[in-house]
Amino acid sequence: YRAKANGKNSYQIYSSSLNINSFKQFYLERDLKKSIESDQLVVYFQPRVDSGTGKIVSAEALVRWEHPVWGLVSPVEFIPLAEETGYIIEIGDWVLDQVCQNITKWKQQNLEVVPISVNISAQRFLRSDWKGKLGTILENNNINPSLIEIEITETTMIKHEEAVKLAIKYIKSLGVKIALDDFGTGYSSITYLKDYPIDTIKIDQSFIKHIAKTNNVETIIKSLIFLAKGLNMNVVAEGVETIEQLSFLRQQECKEIQGYIFSKPVPEKTFRNLLKKMVLKPTFNSDTATFPNRRRYYRINLLFPLSSQMTLTSILGNSVELGSTEVLIEDIGPGGIRFLSTIHLPVRPDIIYQFKTTIMGDNVTLS
Ligand code: C2E
Ligand code: MG
Ligand code: MG
Repeated sequence: YRAKANGKNSYQIYSSSLNINSFKQFYLERDLKKSIESDQLVVYFQPRVDSGTGKIVSAEALVRWEHPVWGLVSPVEFIPLAEETGYIIEIGDWVLDQVCQNITKWKQQNLEVVPISVNISAQRFLRSDWKGKLGTILENNNINPSLIEIEITETTMIKHEEAVKLAIKYIKSLGVKIALDDFGTGYSSITYLKDYPIDTIKIDQSFIKHIAKTNNVETIIKSLIFLAKGLNMNVVAEGVETIEQLSFLRQQECKEIQGYIFSKPVPEKTFRNLLKKMVLKPTFNSDTATFPNRRRYYRINLLFPLSSQMTLTSILGNSVELGSTEVLIEDIGPGGIRFLSTIHLPVRPDIIYQFKTTIMGDNVTLS
C-alpha cells in the first residue's frame, strides 16, 4: 500500500522480522496520535529571500516532532505515517492555526510581518469539512488572507485532480495564495500551469543541486523561470546551498531563494530575530565548522569503513529482541564508535545498541 501511495514505478521493502527501522516506525505510529495534545509538535520557519536584495519576503512553516525518546523527528519520517493514518488532517489544521497565532503575535510586537506558506496535504481536500475549517481558522485568528499561502505538491495535485481543482478555486476566492511545491518532480504536464490559478511555483531542490554541474538541468531551470514569468507567476528556488547556485539563479532573475545559504528552518523565536533584521546575507558551510576534539579516548580512524550488524537490545530499561541492520563503522576506540546508518537514532544512556563485526578474523560484539 505504501508503494502504491507513492505512485507508479515505486517499491517498498518489507521484512517480517522486526528491525530497528520497523521498531522505530511502530513507535512513531503509535505515538503520533498523541503528539498534538502532548505539545510535541513545533513549527519552524524558513525564510524566502529576495534574490537581489536578501530581504525576507516570505517564509515557509515546517513542522517538527520533538519525540520524548527518538528526539527531533523530521517530517520526512512522520508525514507519510500521518498521511497513512489520516492524522495529517489534524496536523495540517494545527500548523495553520499556529501560523495564524504567530502572525497575530508578530503584529502585536510591531514586527514587519511577511506572508507565511503552509504545506497542505491534498488529502485534506477530500474530506468534506475542510472549507469550513479553513475559513474558521482564518476568521478566529482574524488574519488577512493574503498573509497565507497554501503549498500543494505537484504529485498530490495530479493524484486528486478534481478535488484539488475545486479546492484551489475556493482558496483563491478567500484571498489566500497558492504555491505549487516540489515543481518538476511530479511529472505533471506543463499545461497544468495554465489550468490552475497558481501564484507561485517552487522549483524542487533536486534541480537546484545540478546547477554548475549538469548543463541540461540548467537549461530546464532557465526554461522554468522563463515560463513562470511569462505566466505571471512568482518563482522560488528551493534548497539553494552554494554561491554558484545563487549566482546562477540571480543571473536568471529567479525572484526568490529558499535555502540553507540564507537560513535553515528555525524555531519561532529565532525567526522573530530574523524578521527584526529583515535582510539576510548568504553564508557558506556554517555546518562544516570543526568542533574541537573533546574525546577522552583515542579513536582509530579506519581506512575503509568496517561492515557491522547493529541491533537495539534495550530501550528505557526494557530489553527488546530485534533483527539486525547493517551499518558501517568509521572509527572505533574504547570510548565509543562512529558509524553510518540511514536510520536516525538518538544517542542516550537508556538506549543500548549492539554491534557485531569481525576484526582481523575475530568476531567482536560491542554494546
Ligand atoms: P517541502 O515543503 O518541499 O519543504 C522544503 C524542505 O527542504 C524542508 O525540509 C527544508 O528544510 C528543506 N530545505 C530547505 N532548504 C534546504 C537546503 O538548502 N538544503 C537542504 N538539504 N534542504 C533544504 P523539511 O523541513 O525536512 O520538510 C520536508 C517535507 O515535509 C516538506 O518538503 C513537506 O513536504 C513536508 N512537510 C513539512 N511540514 C509539513 C506540514 O506542516 N504539513 C505537510 N503536509 N507536510 C509538511
Ligand atoms: Mg513546501
Ligand atoms: Mg518543496
